[in-house]
Amino acid sequence: MIVLKFGGTSVGSAGRVRDAARIALSQASPRVVVVSAASGLTNALLEAARAAVRGDLVARDAALSLIHGRHDQILNGIESELQRKLARNVLNEVHNGLDATLDEVASIGELSDAASDRIVATGEKCLATLMAATMRDMGHEAEAVFTDSIIATDGRHGAARPDRAVTRENAEHLIQPLLDAGITVVATGFIGSGPDGATTTLGRGGSDYSATLLGAALDADEVQIWTDVPGVLSADPRAVARAQVVPEISYDEAQELAHFGAKVLHPRTIRPAVALDIPVRILSTFLPGEPGTVVMREAPSERIKAVTALKGLILMTLDVPELEDLAPAASAVFRMMHEKCVEILNVSQASSRRRMTYILDAVTGGCANLQLLLETELDELDARIACHEHVAVLAAVGSGAAGTASSLTRMLTVLNRQKIAVLAMNQQTSSVAMISVVNEVDADRAVAALHNAFIRPVVARSHSRRRRRTDLLSESLRVG
Ligand code: ADP
Ligand code: ASP
Ligand code: MG
Repeated sequence: MIVLKFGGTSVGSAGRVRDAARIALSQASPRVVVVSAASGLTNALLEAARAAVRGDLVARDAALSLIHGRHDQILNGIESELQRKLARNVLNEVHNGLDATLDEVASIGELSDAASDRIVATGEKCLATLMAATMRDMGHEAEAVFTDSIIATDGRHGAARPDRAVTRENAEHLIQPLLDAGITVVATGFIGSGPDGATTTLGRGGSDYSATLLGAALDADEVQIWTDVPGVLSADPRAVARAQVVPEISYDEAQELAHFGAKVLHPRTIRPAVALDIPVRILSTFLPGEPGTVVMREAPSERIKAVTALKGLILMTLDVPELEDLAPAASAVFRMMHEKCVEILNVSQASSRRRMTYILDAVTGGCANLQLLLETELDELDARIACHEHVAVLAAVGSGAAGTASSLTRMLTVLNRQKIAVLAMNQQTSSVAMISVVNEVDADRAVAALHNAFIRPVVARSHSRRRRRTDLLSESLRVG
């Protein structure tokens, strides 16, 4: 069986939903189709929630009418009156639930993480309903499944951690029988539920992760991520216009790229595929005939394949007077990060062995808040913390190449030539990624310069094909 996931841009309008349905239905069954909310609607739902908290009825209604308008446009693309009516009934139910949660939020004047998850989940629920109805309209048996009944999580709202064993059991009981009956299952991306049954979400962009979780739960032969770019590119095409498709990358390389900012894959997407060796393909709904990128266990090449940047980070250094103090101080830092759910992207230890450097996801309140949280414990240990906000991590990814002295030298030379200050540098022990920390304002310039230095131009194809690709790529970027 295969899992196909369609992102927001690929299900953003009636025409796109039909195109996505056609792509999915042209593939062999059994198949599970995972959908995101229509592009922009997760943000609109969050805006409605914030407006409800403020008691701003005008802003709440504006966001809701945008949401209803987009869903109605997709609904009206369904030709069969019966299918339209059935889908409308479910949509009304989901929208009524949304209104009730927004009223609840408005009455208490506060948006809990649980309510926020319930609110944003409506985007995916509406799209799964609309996609299944569109497929039935096209003459195929399809059924929408809301994955709060399938993807079991630890209940951490906004960034829930899946329980893969329970998810597998649920998928076996609730999805497999539908597949066995020849029905295409259309599952909501992004959504799970906690031990208390409340809806949870897997973090922004989490539908990619849903696809591989379901793929692993159902022993898929392949997971396909259909999106608005023709594969994993050598850089974000919004920053580097000449970015080119990377045809093959390893699980390790893809994980590093996603971890360090390549938005095309949610950072946790690859993990479930690794254990079962499931290939993950990234393909474009705008260019469905293109081969895209395949992510698999081994994809050797000994060169840098892509350059990424992740902005909005914090660089924190921890200094202790004596070597013996480092372990207790570092363990206090790790404990605090774990308790406060601060994500650590990278840690390194200086050669003097009295300094540790942490690259952290931005936290509410930034450095001031971090210092406050660590003050008491580190005071006792006589440790010092220094903290920089607004930094970015640059990563040059390529198994084998990232670990070589020549790559490291070239990275530093390029950044130096661009007069970009390097705040920290680290070569992953895996030799898959080479990273440097720079000020956020320099990140785009740095990515462009590193791309120029490391990525060799693709061998020219026929002129007309290249032109068609460029036109379609720029269309996809405009739409996205
Ligand atoms: P979807 O809605 O389909 O999930 P996303 O917007 O989440 O799509 O991810 C696709 C986007 O990721 C692209 O439009 C592109 O701007 C961005 N992106 C960033 N880095 C890369 C990269 N290295 N390769 C491809 N796309 C990238
Ligand atoms: N709709 C969700 C988001 O916008 C999940 C996703 O798109 O993958 O974050
Ligand atoms: Mg995405």
